[in-house]
Amino acid sequence: MIELIPQTIADAEGLLTRLSTEPVMGVSMAHVALLRLDRVGGLAPGNKSFKLYGNIAEAKARGVDTLVSFGGSWSNHLHALAAAAHEQGLQSVGLVRGGERDSAMLEDARAWGMQLEYLSRSEYRRRNEVDYQEQLLQRFAPCLLLPEGGANPQGVAGCRQIAALIRQLAPGVPRILLAVGTGTTLAGIVAGLGLTSPAEIIGISALKGAEDLEQRVHVALHAAEAAEHAPWQILHEYHCGGFARVTAGLREFMLAFEAVHGVPLEPVYTGKMLYAIHQRCSSGQWDCDTPILAIHTGGLQGRRGYSW
Ligand SMILES: *Cc1c(COP(=O)(O)O)cnc(C)c1O
Repeated sequence: MIELIPQTIADAEGLLTRLSTEPVMGVSMAHVALLRLDRVGGLAPGNKSFKLYGNIAEAKARGVDTLVSFGGSWSNHLHALAAAAHEQGLQSVGLVRGGERDSAMLEDARAWGMQLEYLSRSEYRRRNEVDYQEQLLQRFAPCLLLPEGGANPQGVAGCRQIAALIRQLAPGVPRILLAVGTGTTLAGIVAGLGLTSPAEIIGISALKGAEDLEQRVHVALHAAEAAEHAPWQILHEYHCGGFARVTAGLREFMLAFEAVHGVPLEPVYTGKMLYAIHQRCSSGQWDCDTPILAIHTGGLQGRRGYSW
């Protein structure tokens, strides 16, 4: 996995943050340890770098030096793609969802050399059509075309490396939590842990009404030929109104958590995941003794999109 992984394993201990007993809004989260992927991955840390390194390995194996992908103007995926391509001496092209304005994220991407193109809404909707993808492949040839969010088998393969970190740092932990968008990261961890792990992996959906998420994970696991995989489930009730939406309760929790534990969060993914743990413990749905490994998947650059 091109430098990224050996480097992280070497100082892996620094990637585990155990939360103190000091309560957050009346609830101790001392049974929670964070796996700090926000400290892994060079210019654009977080789970996106794991998904991308699988794809960069593929591009290098095929002798292709341009990576093309899709995203909105606050896409962590396009941001990480621009960063990783820059670090690896590759070209990148970002096809941005129509009608969106420039953002601090896209400015970073441009500074790292990403070629940006703003598609119309109708063109963006065609991103998964084979005909349209053929046109793009010809236009930017020779290139590797990545789906939105880096959600492909190479992305799943890259995220298996997260399972290696978990095995090293928290081998017996019974419960693992992470935020879920496309389900690619969850699939990689579930496949990588396999049945040898005692853990149940629990995904917190960042999206509202993503009823096909379980199906997508099943498909990704099948494509990864992960016959023997760890048990997993996705909880759908912590989206706080929808993707990138924020409720007063989420904001209050995040600010309290950051003040107590000194770990920065962002509201799209990691804030909602930790809020879910906090809510389940304060309501008594979960006991506060069962250890939890909560995966901090990064995304902190996106916090700039929120004024608070
Ligand atoms: C993209 C992202 C996720 C979700 O990853 P998927 O593989 O799409 O499920 C979680 N956390 C952060 C910070 C992300 O940027």
